[in-house]
Amino acid sequence: MMSDKFIPAANPKAQYEAYKKEIDHAIEKVLSRGWYILGEEVGLFEKEFAGFTGSGFCIGCASGTDALILALKSVGIQPGDEVITVSHSAVATVAAIELVGGVPVFADIDPVTRCMETAQISSLISEKTKVILPVHIYGQPARMKEILSIARQNNLKVIEDCAQAHGAETEGKKVGTFGDAGTFSFYPTKNLGALGDGGAVVTNSSELAEYLKALREYGWKSRYISDFPGMNSRLDEIQAAVLRVKLSHLSKDNARRREIAEHYFSAIDGVHIIPPARIEGTLHAMHLFVVECEKRDGLQQFLKREEVGAAIHYPMAIHQQPAYAGRIRDSENLPQTERLYRRILSLPMYPELTNEQVERVCSALKKWSSSQ
Ligand SMILES: *Cc1c(COP(=O)(O)O)cnc(C)c1O
Repeated sequence: MMSDKFIPAANPKAQYEAYKKEIDHAIEKVLSRGWYILGEEVGLFEKEFAGFTGSGFCIGCASGTDALILALKSVGIQPGDEVITVSHSAVATVAAIELVGGVPVFADIDPVTRCMETAQISSLISEKTKVILPVHIYGQPARMKEILSIARQNNLKVIEDCAQAHGAETEGKKVGTFGDAGTFSFYPTKNLGALGDGGAVVTNSSELAEYLKALREYGWKSRYISDFPGMNSRLDEIQAAVLRVKLSHLSKDNARRREIAEHYFSAIDGVHIIPPARIEGTLHAMHLFVVECEKRDGLQQFLKREEVGAAIHYPMAIHQQPAYAGRIRDSENLPQTERLYRRILSLPMYPELTNEQVERVCSALKKWSSSQ
């Protein structure tokens, strides 16, 4: 048993408790209304989330992985088509590509953004390349201007994996609005988290939106008539109702995350512990605050003794995972990705951390640095 003093790395229950009254009320309304799948709440949430991201359309679905699958299908991916992405992501990114028959091709990461190294993209493009799929990892936007320009020159589609970046901005726009489609996860620990699974695709194309809506429900344009083969990936009313409550607090919650980050930045010495880069012109969603440390395992153990939970996102790059090792193209040449994995540690990061808890994390970090 962890003591009450222990600060976990993530704490979705704390957010439920913060908005308990509103959430309970929203759920009760759905229960008594008696319509449980793709109804009023989903419709309103889709409108509100499209508005939040500044996209024309939002299509709710069952998970972030499904959002990627739907988005890939909607841009016409065919078996054997190549998708340029990164190995530094949740495995979901690559799982989705393979589930639609696509072939993942890895670019290395830029050690500053920790997102796709744009200088490498051109050399990875082949006759079969169809999509560039950057991941805004930890909430830091990828370099979208460069990515879009390469995509345009080569007639490629762009799908942004925004599962960790609800509300992140670059070049004055929210992520998810740059490419043909942006995909989101509402897994409970994400910046916008349901109390179960959920996901969404956003797009500015009405044509794509129409197609996505049908695709998520058996290819139906009208009920029970399948115009083309689809799948079942629907967002349910209870999750949509919960998401609507949390969305109304998201900007404030993201601001609180950035406030916590400021405390961490000022406690980190930049020598024994290296903070994430601050990148001019981007607004970080601070899904995770990921430091780098030569003695990462030592730091993690030390923090644990100080009753601070720190997690590793993730312990291996995707091309190193047993399911993928040795069979993904270009995965021999990912030095920045592999270097990062040995050094990363995610500090506790969620809006409900109290100032006292944040200070305890900061003192623990300073104590480690001065003992080195
Ligand atoms: C969480 C996550 C996903 C998958 O989302 P699920 O809702 O768990 O399916 C995809 N990509 C990234 C980068 C993620 O962090």
